[in-house]
Amino acid sequence: MGYHTAVYAPEGDIPAMEMATHRMTYDWNEPAGVIRLLQACDVITTEWENVPLDLIKELESRGSIVRPGSRVLEIAQNRFAEKTMAKELDIPTTQTIFIPGAHGVAGIDFSDYLPGILKTVRNGYDGKGQYPVATIQELTNALKEANVACVLEKRVALLTEISVVVARTSDNRVSVSDVVENAHQDGILDMTYWPIKTGDMMLMRSLHEKAREIAEKVAMYLELEGILCLEFFVDDNYNLLFNEMAPRPHNSFHGSIEAARTCQFEQHIRAVCGLSLGKLRFHTPFMMQNLIGGSWKEDWSAPLLSSSARLHLYGKAESRPGRKMGHVTCLIHPDN
Ligand code: ADP
Ligand code: MG
Repeated sequence: MGYHTAVYAPEGDIPAMEMATHRMTYDWNEPAGVIRLLQACDVITTEWENVPLDLIKELESRGSIVRPGSRVLEIAQNRFAEKTMAKELDIPTTQTIFIPGAHGVAGIDFSDYLPGILKTVRNGYDGKGQYPVATIQELTNALKEANVACVLEKRVALLTEISVVVARTSDNRVSVSDVVENAHQDGILDMTYWPIKTGDMMLMRSLHEKAREIAEKVAMYLELEGILCLEFFVDDNYNLLFNEMAPRPHNSFHGSIEAARTCQFEQHIRAVCGLSLGKLRFHTPFMMQNLIGGSWKEDWSAPLLSSSARLHLYGKAESRPGRKMGHVTCLIHPDN
């Protein structure tokens, strides 16, 4: 798109550095790093919602354009804040209770939330920081192990899971994507497809419209600048329940690179740079398969044998079980 990029991150295995015009390796909040970032950038964005909030706030207070800003990140960093927001906006969500720590659970009736999943309030991803619990005893043990603030969420009888991406610009232009269907394994996204294939199509179609309306409502409420992915559960009674959100390009929309008129990465840049928004609508059916460390022989050549498959490797230095190493998108052309 003609922009130069600076990538700012602490020391580590940072694949994005390979693509950057300016590489800034500093601890979060390191004054010299912050000054370089401020000098180099017209617009600052985050591709990870857990960048420390005080850094974002400092950049904002020094007049930087940071999109999405601290208001969005503050909520997206905290599972309980996300669920509280949903309740305030009348968005149906899971039955969830906040538990500040291992102490003080005596006397509380958790029966509405069991069997459930205990989740750390912060820093969970790909099913990490989650403990399935069926009894009070298991809950007590899991809380001790987690040893941080958590939420307990009633387990949903899942029919399927769906997600949607909304983009908004600072001058209030909004564009909502098509809805994709997600299949998880062990709490990690395994496959995404469009169009969806599970459930009654008429009922699902009306849930898609609901999900798209909710996405727009949340974007307006948050005064979002950038893109935001919302994940939903669909239970076996066709109830749509908000699960969580991420204010950045999301794994479930990686198929948009090949299959959409405007892909989510371009849409994000369009939104944060204040350009006209594209359409995150799919022109070709697709399925996206994640390549997870440990579960593949890590011979990535197989996907390339199919002319309709596109391989993406993230360039992470080391493969570990459960780590997302790349993905393959297969476009499903009618004549294939
Ligand atoms: P993260 O994606 O941050 O690891 P999620 O809350 O999205 O955390 O959980 C990961 C996956 O675990 C979900 O996509 C879903 O498949 C499963 N899961 C999480 N919470 C529940 C729940 N309350 N009921 C049923 N399945 C759940
Ligand atoms: Mg999730």
